[in-house]
Amino acid sequence: MPTLLIRKATLLATFDDHRREIPDGGLFVRDGFIEQVGLTSELPQEADEVLDLSGHVVLPGLVNTHHHFYQTLTRAIPPAQDASLFNWLKTLYPIWAGITAQDVYLSTQTALAELALSGCTTASDHLYIFPNDVRLDDEIRAAREVGVRLQASRGSMSLGESSGGLPPDSVVEEEDAILEDSLRLIQEYHDPGPGAMTQIVVAPCSPFSVTPDLMRQSAALAREYGLHMHTHLAETRDEEQFCIETFGHRPVAFMETLDWIGPDVWFAHSVHVNSEEIELYARSGCGVAHCPSSNMRLASGIAPIMEMLNSGVKVGLGVDGSASNDGSHMLSEARQTMLLSRLGAGLAEASLSEDEALPLMTARQALEIATRGGAEVLGREDIGSLEVGKCADFFAVNLNQLEFAGALHDPLAALVFCAPVRADYTVVGGKYVVKEGQMMNVDLPVLIEKHNQAAARLVG
Ligand SMILES: [Zn+2]
Repeated sequence: MPTLLIRKATLLATFDDHRREIPDGGLFVRDGFIEQVGLTSELPQEADEVLDLSGHVVLPGLVNTHHHFYQTLTRAIPPAQDASLFNWLKTLYPIWAGITAQDVYLSTQTALAELALSGCTTASDHLYIFPNDVRLDDEIRAAREVGVRLQASRGSMSLGESSGGLPPDSVVEEEDAILEDSLRLIQEYHDPGPGAMTQIVVAPCSPFSVTPDLMRQSAALAREYGLHMHTHLAETRDEEQFCIETFGHRPVAFMETLDWIGPDVWFAHSVHVNSEEIELYARSGCGVAHCPSSNMRLASGIAPIMEMLNSGVKVGLGVDGSASNDGSHMLSEARQTMLLSRLGAGLAEASLSEDEALPLMTARQALEIATRGGAEVLGREDIGSLEVGKCADFFAVNLNQLEFAGALHDPLAALVFCAPVRADYTVVGGKYVVKEGQMMNVDLPVLIEKHNQAAARLVG
């Protein structure tokens, strides 16, 4: 069983239950799992592979809880640059109708390379459009080659325009086919065990693109197999209005009527939720994927993340799809989380009496959301912190670079306060995905060229 020794890290931040931060720290890894964590002097002196990380800060691998990889092909599309959610979607649906299996493969590798180079070791992706020969299988194959853990969501859309939904009829699927394909994927790929590289998630797209019946049947399927469930919820005022007019409920209350509340459910966004809805999330164990860049980009609003954290809601971080961010940099997203939350606090304070001040989100809270918060949201007890028995998933950043000059008073907070940088090492299950700043399993220049060709063909 191969062993890996990480030693002499300037700071090793565990994000364990005691939030231990260990100067001159390290890890001893055996067969992909952490066997020891501590001071370099307390660890074994030898291993099959030894990596000296003096001058680096080491953290648990970042966990991305919401993405649409295929959208890397449609970043910065001019007609969708300045639209809010519903018009943005209506502009992009016809373009996305042209994606192929090969596009899914290429865009998965591109998104995962960006994620891995920003410290991400586990990513959830939500593929909800299946035109042409598109299958989730090509995404799973691409992720296995890159070496990042994947929570592959079998998304779906079944409510076309002619039935009162938002997407054109040409991009929706038959509900029986959706459920049949979901079952096939579960049986073929879902690994429930610790250290899983692939798990399947059942994920109808949103209240305005599927029927209530598909939501219910999807929940029943997920629960039969012990899977997690995921959808977009309470993202915009448009959606809230749609739910009230079409279903007679606000989005969260609508989910209650569909059996879509519980510890096995997480929602992307949840920008427009009130205090009672936050309490319901906390009580029932529903998780939230917070996507600050997307919420700003589409002018959706400011999600009440501090209120969620204070109420005990599980919150993870998501970069969201690359047509509404339009990047997959997890450290940048952690930074946006902190900054947007502070802006929200400032705006809320304006309506409070004079001497009240709301607590500001800290850099460590933002990183906590990006690590152990994400693991909790995805229901993965084997990742999210550097502890004995957990997966050897971590990343390291060299502190000796321009962005951190003058910030070494607090190297951990510097990752969030200073301009976002790339990871120098990203390790998943004890294996290098990024080493000395380079992707190990992807030829980036070749991938970028193929990706650009595919994007040009798609957009025309
Ligand atoms: Zn999304």
